[in-house]
Amino acid sequence: MTNKYMYFIANWKMFGNLGTLNSVKKVIKFLKTFKKSKKIKIIYCPPNTLINLMSEKFLKTRIEVGAQNCHESMSYAPLTGSVNPSMLRSVGAKYVIIGHSENRQSGETDKLINLKVKAAIKVGLKVIFCIGETLSQKRKKITKQILSRQIKLGLNKVQRTKNIIIAYEPVWSIGTGVIPKSSELLKTIDFIKDKVRNNKVLYGGSVNPKNIRELKLIRNIDGFLIGGASQEAKKFIDIIKKTYN
Ligand code: PEP
Repeated sequence: MTNKYMYFIANWKMFGNLGTLNSVKKVIKFLKTFKKSKKIKIIYCPPNTLINLMSEKFLKTRIEVGAQNCHESMSYAPLTGSVNPSMLRSVGAKYVIIGHSENRQSGETDKLINLKVKAAIKVGLKVIFCIGETLSQKRKKITKQILSRQIKLGLNKVQRTKNIIIAYEPVWSIGTGVIPKSSELLKTIDFIKDKVRNNKVLYGGSVNPKNIRELKLIRNIDGFLIGGASQEAKKFIDIIKKTYN
């Protein structure tokens, strides 16, 4: 059982519609009855289309809402299809995920990620900053170099670093059902904590109601970024319950 303050961040990716939005009612109901709720921080990151509705639903609850990415520009601009951090704030987002591997894989560089982080922090969003190595980088045993580089470049000259939460997400673990060995994860999280000092460090990658029993025992993890399993209220609630029991 943990007495630590833990984060549970739901990354809905490009899933979710008005129907699935109803599933969060169950989570709200569960939280009202959950004894240890004072030590929980729950953040839902739905697609942008649901941010407004979700933040209205979560009024008077302790659940907060975040976005999954943003444009690096702080001003309004003729950029078709883009959404800047102020626009996200204006519809109720308090957080934004930046540097997710799915976006790094589709071309986001460390430099671009750094601009996004700076823009988001400047308008008052908190940033869930994702880092992680690919399978081939892991096999080459260069995980530490990769993580150091992502942190150094992605957070270069970032002000208000207390508004950054790090999510360590090994790319080979996302959506695959495979998680790192506990001993390995402990060491990697320690390595990251050594670099960032005062930031919370979460783990993300195939967290589910089964493996949470193993993951929750890793003492230096401050919470979880949860993709697939966060879309079903029952699984999400189970993960939370089992973390504390
Ligand atoms: C993610 O995409 O951030 C993630 C952790 O996904 P999953 O839980 O589905 O592996």
